[in-house]
Amino acid sequence: MGQAKPLHWDRSINAACFVHELGLRCARDCGQAGPKPRRTRCAIRLVPGPVPVMDAFGRKIDYLRISVTDRCNERCLYCRPRQYAGWNASGERLSNSDLLRIVRVATSLGFRKFRITGGEPLLRPDLVELIEQMAQIPGVECIGLSTNGVKLAPLAADLRKAGLRTVNISLDALDPALYRRITGGPLEPVLAGIQAAIEAGFERVKLNTVLMRHVNEQEIWPLIHFSAAHQLPLRLIELMPLTSRDVLTPENFLSVGEVMERIQQQDQLIPEPDARLGHGPARYYRLARSGALVGFIGAMTQQHFCDSCNKMRLTADGRLRPCLGHHDEISLVEALRQPDDELLCSLFRHALATKPREHEFRTCYQPGRPMTAIGG
Ligand code: SAM
Repeated sequence: MGQAKPLHWDRSINAACFVHELGLRCARDCGQAGPKPRRTRCAIRLVPGPVPVMDAFGRKIDYLRISVTDRCNERCLYCRPRQYAGWNASGERLSNSDLLRIVRVATSLGFRKFRITGGEPLLRPDLVELIEQMAQIPGVECIGLSTNGVKLAPLAADLRKAGLRTVNISLDALDPALYRRITGGPLEPVLAGIQAAIEAGFERVKLNTVLMRHVNEQEIWPLIHFSAAHQLPLRLIELMPLTSRDVLTPENFLSVGEVMERIQQQDQLIPEPDARLGHGPARYYRLARSGALVGFIGAMTQQHFCDSCNKMRLTADGRLRPCLGHHDEISLVEALRQPDDELLCSLFRHALATKPREHEFRTCYQPGRPMTAIGG
């Protein structure tokens, strides 16, 4: 009977051709390079149904993190230092309808997972509506949120009802005075936000802690016990030179390797290789005695950290950022003024084709845009 299903063009073909247009080497090793794509050799196959998007290194990129505001109600030492005003002076940010349009384009290209971040996304007044509408877009499989938790308690149930599935909450210390020293704000509403997230029944609630020697290293065990008691995965994150290089000195950098060694002096780390727990880069271990599930994000020290990268970012002012640790950005603002989505699609493909193999944090990266604008 021939083909039962309708055939669609493999969308990744276009990405591969874009690679050639840019004079890069094709990830599919079809041997072509240079400005003139020869679609006959590059057009690998016709396949039924949706196709994952690949970058030039063969990584499947299906995860978009969206910064919905560059505003934040905390001033974390490593993210939004005192000298940085933090507000987008022009007040420019994308409307919900622009964001929904971008998400539709992204899903048409194979993106499936989305994370709302910022700045502090819960400062955006129309966030519940945005999530509700996003959740209805065909192809959107999962929407997650990264938040500092300060404003989460009164919103958790509505967010869950709107279709939000997972929540990551930043928690760098359990000691209230230290928490205030790191973030500039009180701990209490964050703990209430964590409790509300548990009660709202999200599929997953994770805690994120940025490691800083001489600042919060003594908080690691209390945080492990807290996460075990609440049965929440805890992720320990190496400090990256994102907003400022000043925060990252040999004195205050604490590697995940050193923290693992310290944990092993008191407990046993049992690898959980299958615990991807969402779409992030953490490597998970179960602590035999405490029962905690701890993920380690060693962006600075883990070689091959970027090999499994699956994401791109959309900044608060409408730029696609293929890599957190690389300054290249592609503005979608002009394309959003066009009535059709053609330009938006090709800018996405361009972003995919130019996504670098790895971040530059270990080498030449000099902070430019603050993390709040890029989106954590
Ligand atoms: N306000 C939200 C929050 O607190 O999760 C979302 C944005 S915040 C920028 C996202 C994540 O980025 C947080 O977990 C934060 O700790 C992390 N982050 C910010 N700056 C960082 C840095 N220099 N190094 C490592 N992680 C950082």
